[in-house]
Amino acid sequence: MRKPVIAGNWKLFKTSSEAVELVTALLPLVSGATNVEIVVAPVFTVLDRVQRVISGSNVNLSAQDCYWEAEGAFTGEISPKMLLDAGCSHVIIGHSERRQFFGETDETVNKKIKAAIASGLVVLFCIGETLAERESEKTFDVLKRQIIGGLTGIPESDLAQVIVAYEPVWAIGTGRTASDDQAQEAHAYIRGEIRSLYSAAAAEGMRVLYGGSVKPENIAGLISRQDIDGALVGGASLKADSFAALVNAAQK
Ligand code: PEP
Repeated sequence: MRKPVIAGNWKLFKTSSEAVELVTALLPLVSGATNVEIVVAPVFTVLDRVQRVISGSNVNLSAQDCYWEAEGAFTGEISPKMLLDAGCSHVIIGHSERRQFFGETDETVNKKIKAAIASGLVVLFCIGETLAERESEKTFDVLKRQIIGGLTGIPESDLAQVIVAYEPVWAIGTGRTASDDQAQEAHAYIRGEIRSLYSAAAAEGMRVLYGGSVKPENIAGLISRQDIDGALVGGASLKADSFAALVNAAQK
């Protein structure tokens, strides 16, 4: 039985007081969701503040990215070790906005995933096709390339620290969600790739989240599908009531 995950990616939003206000409002709304892995991913500068509020609760802390070196002359970067120090248990790697705007490649994603796993972090490994790729029927090719590229050299024994997030780029922040069927089809494909790269047991155990305009109104249909194990959520994670509604839907 795969434990569902609802992860909120706050992107470039929330100052420290706003972040504290959000998690303070969130905690009582999700305290009964004992069967859901709840994750929030604020900006680096508020990780510590948010950690102090969620400490001892059922909400976990994630960063939105990390570098692969532990320390050194890498101005502007942050390492897995530093994220752990700030209280993170999770880190998002390979988000499409990083790939699109900040030059992230399958190779850098792979280095980051390896470093994060070695430090003990759980990785939310993002993959997904663009609209042009979907329309030219390249979705599965792109997913395969991203999965193989991201997971190269990672042994099956480390997969417990990996959660895949399937996020079709055309559905992120657009209000245009993949249909339940489209999402299920992609998720089944991803699980099949994990099976052929690793084993049936690895595929069965891998959590695969959907991301792309998930809202309280569409979560039930998505999460009821066989291969959809939760959601990575942007916009709807910025308000306590909508994020809590997603968590509580996953708990059911
Ligand atoms: C995301 O940022 O990963 C995301 C899925 O955003 P949104 O829910 O706003 O589409």
